[in-house]
Amino acid sequence: MNWTKPNMAAKKKLWDASAETPSEERRGGFLGRFSARSRSEKPASMPKTSSRDALLLLQNFEDSGRGWFWSTDADGRLNYLSESICAKLGRPFEELAGNHFVELFRKPEANEDRQRTLPWVLMRQSKFEDLALQAAGTEDEIWWSVSGRPFHTANGDFAGYRGSGTDITEQRMAAKDNDRLATYDSLTGLLNRHRMGKLLEATLSAFQNQRRACAIMLIDLDRFKQVNDTLGHPAGDALLKQVAERLIKVVGDREKISRLGGDEFQIILQDEDDRGALGEMADKIIKSLSHPYSIDGSRCIIGASVGIAVSPFDGQSSEELIRNADLALYAAKGGGRGRFRFYSSDLLQAAEDRRVLEEDLRDALEKGQIWLAYQPVVNARSNVVTGFEALIRWNHPERGNISPALFIPIAEEANLIGALGEWALHKACEEAASWPGKMKVAVNVSPVQFANVMLPKTVESALAASGLAPGRLELEITESVFLQDSADTDRMFTELKRLGIRLALDDFGTGYSSLGYLKTAPFDKIKIDQSFVRGATEPESRNGAIISAIVALAEALGMETTAEGIESLDQLDLIRSLHVSHVQGYVYSQPVANEVLLERCEAGDWEITPSGPAVQRSDRLSMYRKIGAIHEDHYYNVVLRNLSVSGALIEGIMDVPLGTSFVIDFGDGQLAISTVVRSMGPQQGVEFEERLVSDGNGGLCTSRRISPYMMAAAGMPMSNLPPGYYDNIEEQKRPKTLPAFSTAAEWKGN
Ligand code: C2E
Ligand code: MG
Ligand code: MG
Repeated sequence: MNWTKPNMAAKKKLWDASAETPSEERRGGFLGRFSARSRSEKPASMPKTSSRDALLLLQNFEDSGRGWFWSTDADGRLNYLSESICAKLGRPFEELAGNHFVELFRKPEANEDRQRTLPWVLMRQSKFEDLALQAAGTEDEIWWSVSGRPFHTANGDFAGYRGSGTDITEQRMAAKDNDRLATYDSLTGLLNRHRMGKLLEATLSAFQNQRRACAIMLIDLDRFKQVNDTLGHPAGDALLKQVAERLIKVVGDREKISRLGGDEFQIILQDEDDRGALGEMADKIIKSLSHPYSIDGSRCIIGASVGIAVSPFDGQSSEELIRNADLALYAAKGGGRGRFRFYSSDLLQAAEDRRVLEEDLRDALEKGQIWLAYQPVVNARSNVVTGFEALIRWNHPERGNISPALFIPIAEEANLIGALGEWALHKACEEAASWPGKMKVAVNVSPVQFANVMLPKTVESALAASGLAPGRLELEITESVFLQDSADTDRMFTELKRLGIRLALDDFGTGYSSLGYLKTAPFDKIKIDQSFVRGATEPESRNGAIISAIVALAEALGMETTAEGIESLDQLDLIRSLHVSHVQGYVYSQPVANEVLLERCEAGDWEITPSGPAVQRSDRLSMYRKIGAIHEDHYYNVVLRNLSVSGALIEGIMDVPLGTSFVIDFGDGQLAISTVVRSMGPQQGVEFEERLVSDGNGGLCTSRRISPYMMAAAGMPMSNLPPGYYDNIEEQKRPKTLPAFSTAAEWKGN
C-alpha cells in the first residue's frame, strides 16, 4: 500500500503553531505539555532539546501506534492526522485531508448521546477530553478516546483544533463483555440474579411513590435434580435452555424473566395485582413446563412450582417481597408440587412455627418424647388382627401430641429422618418380637430413607438386634419412590427382598397411581388410601370399579390388599363386597400404645367387632373463620360459615334486610362488595359483585386487593389494617353515625 505520509513540513507547522498558542492552551495534551516543558519547565540539569529532537520524539510516539494526533482548521477540516490512523481507516491522508473531523466517527443512533457531544463541543469551540468515539466505515469495531483543544491566532481569532487520540477498542470490548456478564445469565440468555435484583429494586422504589403494584413469581423446577443426575449436566443445561424458551413464550417478554441460579427462575410483572390473572399465568407456566422435553433423543418430564407475592400488599422492599414469594413457593412445593401459591400472612407464622419445631425435633429422641403407636390391621372376613402398623408419635412438652403428617416432612428436610427412621425400625422390631403369636409389624419408610443405600443394613441390624423373624416385618413405601432413578430403586427392592422381609405400597390412589410398576415391583401388599375409599361411597363414583380392578390385579400377582381409614359400617360393607382382604381404620381400632396392644392380645388372638357410624358423615363444607363486614362506616366482626366463588354465609349481625350492601373484609386487603340475598336471624347469605378466584391452595381469594393506602384513606379502622404502611396517614376522624344493626352478641345479651 502506498501511504503518503503527512510531510515533515506539516508536522513542523503543527509544532510551531503549538509554540504560538497561549500558555493556557499549552498545558493540556501531549503537544502542549511537551512544548511547555521544552521551553520553560525544563530542569537545569536536562540537556537542551532542540525542536528537531522534539519532532523526532513525536514521530517515535506516533510510530509506536499507542497514540495519534490530529488538527483541523477553523472550519473543522482535517489538516493533520497521524499516519497510523490513516492506515487503520484504510485511506491515505490525501483523501482524508479537508474532510470534516466529525466524519471520522460513526454517526450516533437516536438513542445514544455520547457521540452527539462532539459536533456540539466543536461548534462551541470548547476543549474536550477523553471522548469515547467509534471509527466510521471500518469493518471491525474500532474505538478511540479522543481529546482536543481549540487554538487561536496571535490576535485571538479561533484558528482550529488540535488534539490526540488513543485506541481503546480492547477496553471497550472487555467492558461490553463484562456488561453482558453482569446483566445476562450465560446459559439461558435471561437476566441474571444481579440484574433482576437491581430491576426489582428500581421498580419498587419508583412504584412506591406512584402507588403502583408489582408482582413477582418465583419458579422452582420439580425433579430437575434427577434429570441432572441421571442424564448428566450437559443434558441439564439443555433442559434449562428449553425451560427458558417456554417461559419467554408464556410471559412474552424475555427482559422480565431471570434465572436466579440452578433451577430457580423469577418473573417480574409490573402493574399486575389481579390474582385471577396471576393465577392463570402461573397455571400456564406450570402446564407449559410440565410437557415432556426431548434432550439428545431422551425424553424427560419435570414439573414446576410457583410462589407469587405482590407489592405493596405482600411487601414493599425487594427483600421482603422476595422472602414472601419464597415462602409461597415453599408452601406450593409442600402442597404437593406442580402448584402455584399466593403469599398470605399466615405462611410467615407457619414458617416460624416450623423453625421452632425443627429446633425442638433435634433433641426430641434423646429426651424420650418419641414413641410408637400401633394400629391393628384386620382380616376383613374374620375380623381377626393379623398385624399392626407402627405409627410414630411425638409428645411435645408444650404442644402435646404432634401429628407425623406435620413433623415427618420437617424431619426429612432437616436431615433428621435418618435417625428417626432408624429408631422407629429398631423400636418396632424390638416391641413386635415380644408380641404373642406371629402378628406382623409394618413400619413406614420415607422416600428419603429409601434413597439411602444404607437402608438394607439398618433393617438387617434391627432384625438381628430384636431377633424378629424377617417375614414378620413389612416396610411401607409410597409411590413417590418411583420418581427416583429406576436402576437404584430396583436394586434397593432386590436387596430388601433378599433379607426376607415384606414390602407394602402405601397410600395407593393419592399420587401417580400407575398400575405399571405394580407388575414389576416386588410388593406383597397394596394399601388403598382412605381418600380413595371415601370417594367410592359417593354416588356415581368410579373409585369402586378401580378398587375392584386393583384387587383383581393384586390377586393375580399374589399380593394382599388393605383398605386404609375405614370409619363407617357402610364403607366396611363396600370394601368387603369389593373383596379387599384387609382393613385398617377407626371402625376396628384407633392406633394404640404397645401396653394396650399387649393387654388385648394376651389371649393370643385379637378379634375385633367393627363399630362406628352406619354411614360416613359427609365432610362438612362449613367453616369457622373470623372476618369483617363493613356497612356504612361501621365494622362488624362476623364469622364466615361457608364460602363459594359467588357468595358466602356470614353470621354475627341480626336481622339484616334483603338487598343490604356489605363490604366483606377477608383480611390482607381482600374486600368483596356484596349484597344480602338471604337473611335468617343472625345469619346472612351474601352474593359477591365479583367472583372469587382460586388461591392455588384449594381455597378462594379476591381477584384484586385494595391497597392499604386506599383502605386507610377510606376510613378503615387502623386496627383492621396490616401493619407498616401508614405511619403518615392520620386515621380519618369522621363524625360517626349509629350502627344500623345490632350484633348477635348484643342481641343475645338483651
Ligand atoms: P399412613 O402410613 O398412611 O398412616 C395411616 C394414617 O391414617 C395414620 O395417621 C393413622 O392414624 C390414620 N388413620 C388410620 N385409620 C384412620 C381412620 O379410620 N380415619 C382417619 N381419619 N385416619 C385414620 P398418622 O398416624 O397421623 O400418620 C400419618 C402419616 O405419617 C402416615 O400415613 C405415614 O405416612 C407417616 N408416618 C407415621 N409414622 C411414620 C414413621 O415412623 N416413619 C415415617 N417415615 N413416616 C411415618
Ligand atoms: Mg403407612
Ligand atoms: Mg397410608
